[in-house]
Amino acid sequence: MNETRKMLSADEALELLLSHARPLSETETIHTTHALGRVLAQPLVSSVTVPPLDNSAMDGYAVACASLNPGGEACLRVAQRIPAGSVGHALEQGTAARIFTGAPIPPGADAVVMQEDCTVDGDTVVIRKTPRLGENIRRAGEDIAAGSEVLPAGVKMRAQEMGLAASIGLADVPVYRRLRVALFFTGDEIVMPGEPLEEGEIYNSNRYTLLGLLEGLGCRVADYGIVPDSLEATVEVLKQAWHEADLIVTSGGVSVGEEDHVKAAVESLGRLDMWKVAMKPGKPIAHGTVQGTPFIGLPGNPVSAFATFCLFVRPYILRCQGVKQVTPRSYMLPAAFDWTRSGPRREFVRARLEPQADGGLGVTIYPNQSSGVLTSAVWGEGLAEIRENTTVARGGMIRFTPFSELLG
Ligand code: AMP
Ligand code: MG
Repeated sequence: MNETRKMLSADEALELLLSHARPLSETETIHTTHALGRVLAQPLVSSVTVPPLDNSAMDGYAVACASLNPGGEACLRVAQRIPAGSVGHALEQGTAARIFTGAPIPPGADAVVMQEDCTVDGDTVVIRKTPRLGENIRRAGEDIAAGSEVLPAGVKMRAQEMGLAASIGLADVPVYRRLRVALFFTGDEIVMPGEPLEEGEIYNSNRYTLLGLLEGLGCRVADYGIVPDSLEATVEVLKQAWHEADLIVTSGGVSVGEEDHVKAAVESLGRLDMWKVAMKPGKPIAHGTVQGTPFIGLPGNPVSAFATFCLFVRPYILRCQGVKQVTPRSYMLPAAFDWTRSGPRREFVRARLEPQADGGLGVTIYPNQSSGVLTSAVWGEGLAEIRENTTVARGGMIRFTPFSELLG
C-alpha cells in the first residue's frame, strides 16, 4: 500500500469501516434470561394484549360512578372481593367491590376509589371522595396490543427489553450469535500484570482495556497473548487467528517504525485497506482482511487504543452483530476551556461535564491529553471533539459524547 496516500478523516475512516461490516447470518434462540446485551435477530410480535384486562391501579373499591352522589359521600354494600389473580362478577347496582392492585375490574364498574378515600363499616364502605370516570383503571392493551411489533430486529437487549419480551410471554428470543474476536498484542516491551517488570518493560494494559470493551459488546474473545516484534511471529499468530475468528483485533505495531510488523504481516496474508486516520489520539489504524477474515489493528498507546476502539471498532462490531443504530448520541455543549492550537487532525479529548457559574453544564478537559495517559480516560466522562483546523474559545459549543454511548 502506498504510504504517501492521503490520511483519511475520522468521518471517512468510519464510513469506510462500516461499509465493510457484514452482519452475521447465524442466529440462535436463547432463554430470555440470558438475553442481556444480545441483538434481536427477528422482530418480536406480541400474541397477547398487555395488560390483558382492564385492571385496578390501586388497592381500593371498584364502583359505578352513576351510583355515587356527585360531590357528596356515598355508602355502598361491599358485595364481592377481588384479589389479583381472580376474576369478579358483574357489579350489582348500589354495591362496591373490594379490589386490589392488578385485579380485573368487574363488569359494570367504571372507577376505583383508593382505600385511603374510603371508610369501611362492617360490610359497607363510605366513599368519601367521588372519583372521575375511569380513575385508577389501567386499560386492557394500554401497554401492548395483540399483533403489534414490540421490538424490531437489530435491537440490543437491555434490562427493559428483556422485561418487555417476558411481558408478552416469551421465554426464549431469537438473537444473532456472538461475534468471535481474536485479540493479540504486539511489543517486546509488553509484560503481563502479575509478572515482575524488567527495565524497559511496561505492563500490558491494552489487554485489559480491550477485553473489557469487547466483553462489554458481548463478543466471545480468543486471547492470543503477547506477540514479539517480529514479522514471523506476527504472521504465525495471524495464521492461527483468521480461521477461528470473525474479526481480528490487535494492539500496537501498526506505525511505520522498523519494529512495527503488523502491517507487513497482514499484507503478506491478505490485504490492508487503510492505516492512517487524521485524528488524535490515534492516527495509525490498520484495517484489512487476513485470508478473508476482517482485521483491525489499533495503535499501541493506551488512550489511542481505547479511543479508536470506541470510535471505530465499536460501531463496526455493532454492525456485524446486526445492530441497526450504531451512531452514539452526542450533545453540543459549551466549552469551559480555551483551545488555542488548531491542527489538521481531529482531537478527541477526555472530558467531563461540570456545573458552571451560570448554572449550566460546561465541558472541562483533563490537563494532560497525552495518548499514553490512561488516567485521563478514567477521569473523563466522555470524549469532546475539537474539529480539524479549529480553535475553541470558552463558551463556544463543542460536541461531547458520553462514555455511556461509546461503551457496550
Ligand atoms: P506501538 O503502537 O507499538 O508503536 O506502541 C506505541 C506505544 O504504546 C508504546 O509506548 C508502547 O510501549 C505502548 N504500548 C504498546 N502496546 C501496549 C500494550 N499492550 N499495553 C500498554 N502499552 C502498550
Ligand atoms: Mg510496538
